Amino acid sequence: MSFQFSLKMRALSVNRYRGKTAVLATKHEKLWAIEKPMLTGLGMSLISPPGIDTDALGTFSGEVERDGTPLETAIRKARLGMSITKLPFGFANEGSFGPHPQLIFIPGNQEFMVFIDDELGIEIAEQTISTETNYNHTNVSSIAAAAAFLEQVRFPSHGLIVLPHNQKRSRPEKAGGAFSGKEPLTLIKGIRDRATLEEAIEFCKSQSNDGLARIETDMRAHMNPLRQRVIRRLAIKLARRLQRACAQCECPGWGITGVAGSLPCEDCGYPSQEAPAFEIHSCSKCSYSQKLPRRDGLTLVEATYCQRCNP
Ligand SMILES: [Zn+2]
Ligand SMILES: [Zn+2]
Repeated sequence: MSFQFSLKMRALSVNRYRGKTAVLATKHEKLWAIEKPMLTGLGMSLISPPGIDTDALGTFSGEVERDGTPLETAIRKARLGMSITKLPFGFANEGSFGPHPQLIFIPGNQEFMVFIDDELGIEIAEQTISTETNYNHTNVSSIAAAAAFLEQVRFPSHGLIVLPHNQKRSRPEKAGGAFSGKEPLTLIKGIRDRATLEEAIEFCKSQSNDGLARIETDMRAHMNPLRQRVIRRLAIKLARRLQRACAQCECPGWGITGVAGSLPCEDCGYPSQEAPAFEIHSCSKCSYSQKLPRRDGLTLVEATYCQRCNP
């Protein structure tokens, strides 16, 4: 991929991280997706020591509630890795799944990646949204009934989770007291073969009040090659960001931090609420920033998308 950013001021290149080591806080074997972009882009090595329990900060399948935004969770993960290894540099990634914010009804995978440099006192975050995801679920009474679903979610190259659709209570509800809902869930994760899947469906059916098993895609990175790809592309994006330095203070991580203005309609000139006219590039350390035209070169909005011409 070529570097497409055409900054008016030529960005300084950064050698700060060459030969340095950072910790990648992950429990789910994201190392291969993130290691190479950082090594080739920055000359920086990553270590991912065992025993970092990022699940304590929340899981996709809901056994541990996440509090805070995915970005906040990513920062906490990176800090956790840095405190365990005593390294001043840390990376972490956090993803979320759900309807795409712009394309409703299409599932989206949003990923955040952060880099923390405690020597400079900076936190740099990049994010991406991809529709290349198999994120989905279904409720079935047998493995045969799941045939189309299994093909669509790319099983067995992509892992699955099975749980009872409507779990039977393990304890009777206390009289007058609300059910806490905190009992451990029956949940079978990381399923990558048909025999295990069938067994899991049969077991979870028997644990469900309505005789249905719920199958969910396992979105953990090591169970999901599609997600790994999204994470890898985001790592490349973050490495490129870290290659660019502020023209004032030479701090790495110069990049887009926001947008400004509105593009006018091509026919009536009415300012669009959805299409910003400028990108704000700024430094993470000093207050220097630049307002630059959009990289895609757009200067007008088509009348079809105009709130006045086509309300
Ligand atoms: Zn218009
Ligand atoms: Zn600066």
